Amino acid sequence: MTQYKPLTIVSHSQCLDHDTGGPEHPENPERLRIINRQLKASPLFPYITEKIAKRAKREDILVYHSESYLFRLEETALRGQTYIDHPDNQICFESYEAILLSSGGCMTAVDLLEEEQCDLVFSCIRPPGHHAERAMAFGFCFVNNAVVAARYWQRHYGRKKIAIIDWDAHHGNGIQDAFENDPDVFYISIHEHPTFSFPGTGYAEEKGLGEGVGTTLNVPLPPGADDQMFLRALKKFVEPALESFQPERIIISAGFDGHVLDDMSGLSYSTELYGIIGEKMDCLAQKYCQGKLLTILEGGYHLEALAASVESYLLGLTKCK
Ligand SMILES: [Zn+2]
Repeated sequence: MTQYKPLTIVSHSQCLDHDTGGPEHPENPERLRIINRQLKASPLFPYITEKIAKRAKREDILVYHSESYLFRLEETALRGQTYIDHPDNQICFESYEAILLSSGGCMTAVDLLEEEQCDLVFSCIRPPGHHAERAMAFGFCFVNNAVVAARYWQRHYGRKKIAIIDWDAHHGNGIQDAFENDPDVFYISIHEHPTFSFPGTGYAEEKGLGEGVGTTLNVPLPPGADDQMFLRALKKFVEPALESFQPERIIISAGFDGHVLDDMSGLSYSTELYGIIGEKMDCLAQKYCQGKLLTILEGGYHLEALAASVESYLLGLTKCK
């Protein structure tokens, strides 16, 4: 019988209150509900401990986002406007709280990794974050959860060198923007080629700026790219980059919209690929971070494929090898 390692999942019921206008909007509360249902029926369930997300404070968000943007975001939500910056970014009165809990949940995950006996923590939150820029909401994202978590790790626990591995189907323009001048945070993204895909950034030529040249790695894949192409990219580009960087901590920006059934991208990943990715991410955590790994939910919009892929990833991640 397969044994699994313990997994901690951080979330908050108020992440469901971020209403994007109904089921026609791909980033809707059903995403978290279906993941929860899938995990309750999973063989992994007995190995899961659930923790409640704390609320990020303004100062935690201001490590990247501008104060004027944060005021504008709060005001837009509380005034009852239905979107900010672009109609994609639907919000409601409760959204501001959900946004603070999403980022706060990633900080709670860092606390658990550093202070408790937790090695594998999944921050199962929404709204997602990797497209959010300093002063702009973008692509269903409002505050950049991975950026907030990385800075929190550095400021509160003195972890200097952090790698963020983002395998959402889309390039995490916000994470890149936050760290492209920073040699201490290595942003690595495997995504569908920007010529064909939102948000249009993440060309292989984008390698960082100034002191940060060399600690941004973009690996674009052509439309239709499958499991083998993903795994080749991981082996050929990502693993050697991590070996030369030697991260102290790793954050995974985990998007599941590269699944073949998810029409938000042209990628053709299988559910099984996410299980292999889980195993590989755990190996990297063992190699560099004493087995500690923070995984943050980003995209994934085909509900059944999302739930199955999250379960597959977490089973691979926690599998005793
Ligand atoms: Zn995405």
